[in-house]
Amino acid sequence: MNPHTHTADTLIHPDYIVPVVPHGVVLENHSIAITGDRITALLPRAEANSINATRVLDLPGHVLLPGLINSHGHAAMSLLRGYADDQALMPWLEQHIWPAEAANVSAEFVRDGVELAIAEMLRSGTTTFSDMYFFPDVCAETAQRTGMRCQITFPIFDFPTVWARDADEYISKGLALRDDVKHSELVTVGFGPHATYTVSEPNLVKVATLAAELDVAIHIHLHETRGEVLLAAEQNGERPLDSLYRLGLLGPRTQCVHMTELTDQDIALLAATGAHAVHCPQSNMKLASGTCPVGRLLDSGINVALGTDSAASNNDLNLFGEMQCAALLAKLHTGDAAALPAATALAMATINGAKALGLDDQIGSLETGKLADMIAVDLEQPETQPLYNPISQLVYACNGSQVSHSWIGGVQVMKQRQPTHIDLNALAARTRAWRDRINKQDSRPA
Ligand SMILES: [Zn+2]
Repeated sequence: MNPHTHTADTLIHPDYIVPVVPHGVVLENHSIAITGDRITALLPRAEANSINATRVLDLPGHVLLPGLINSHGHAAMSLLRGYADDQALMPWLEQHIWPAEAANVSAEFVRDGVELAIAEMLRSGTTTFSDMYFFPDVCAETAQRTGMRCQITFPIFDFPTVWARDADEYISKGLALRDDVKHSELVTVGFGPHATYTVSEPNLVKVATLAAELDVAIHIHLHETRGEVLLAAEQNGERPLDSLYRLGLLGPRTQCVHMTELTDQDIALLAATGAHAVHCPQSNMKLASGTCPVGRLLDSGINVALGTDSAASNNDLNLFGEMQCAALLAKLHTGDAAALPAATALAMATINGAKALGLDDQIGSLETGKLADMIAVDLEQPETQPLYNPISQLVYACNGSQVSHSWIGGVQVMKQRQPTHIDLNALAARTRAWRDRINKQDSRPA
């Protein structure tokens, strides 16, 4: 036994531990010790009893696993949950979402929307999220205040919005934020060029150059719909993926979100560059966008993570739902019930997310030395009984409401389903006030 593990801040005894690395493993009668922000031991219960811990937590009937990683979203849009449904992507954006944002988005909107999103994400097992939205500085502040880990990819468009006038201003404000949070233990910052149809080639080249120079992430919506791919081919004589490659944007620090409409050639190109795919199954289904061929991507060695996208196109931020949908959709899409098994869906929501965000040396699995980002899930209730296989239960039977406790960097951020850094009653009152205000200024066409 490691001599450094004789004392610990916290020692946790769950019934099961699913460390995610190694793949598909379920440990019984094991315990985890945390000291400071790190996991300092993962060991058999019998040996753990010799550790002298300040706090000991018994979690009978629970499984402990790494916190889930939501690799794509627009957190503040939680305030537009259910505002406009049952529309295709472009009319949904152009006639509903963009006008509502133009009328309502402010620093206060982002503060309250992000807090609402974080409360929901914590209560459904997420401990890290990726965000692309206006006022990313406010998102960073809110994440740090609530103890949540996040990757912020500041938005870049060619056109003016409430946050910036043009691409240069989006980039300079985003890079200033990166400087401001460079010592943060919770927040990392990258580039978020919205898509190839909203950011011009010269501006995409600027992003590629700066991202390479600074060695930071690029996060972009790519091949979200068939229409996007066909229009680009018609207008530029090139598919969006080929444009990104030609402009130097595809590489191991690039996160490509959605990735439907992929040919064998597209997949080979993606694999050769080491770019990551982020699959958002519920958003793709709700907007009838298309299907990401997850099995073919994984078989080609491409890392595939999972995201919810925004609460306006989903309509929740619950990765348990995404894991289940990813697995079921892959089976339906391929006609193969063995496609995307439960352990693979769980890996996509944890270690693959960590790889996509460039954080896999820190989070994404329960291993000694990694940050203590983890969740406890109660499997004792009727919905998850009888228990033959905890991983199967997590992916196919849990709906997120079984998550009871969570820790981020060793700090307990949820206890018995109550976030420790968020006042849920005050948040609910502010959320209702936004609903009333947005309803009053309804900017939707009649
Ligand atoms: Zn999105």
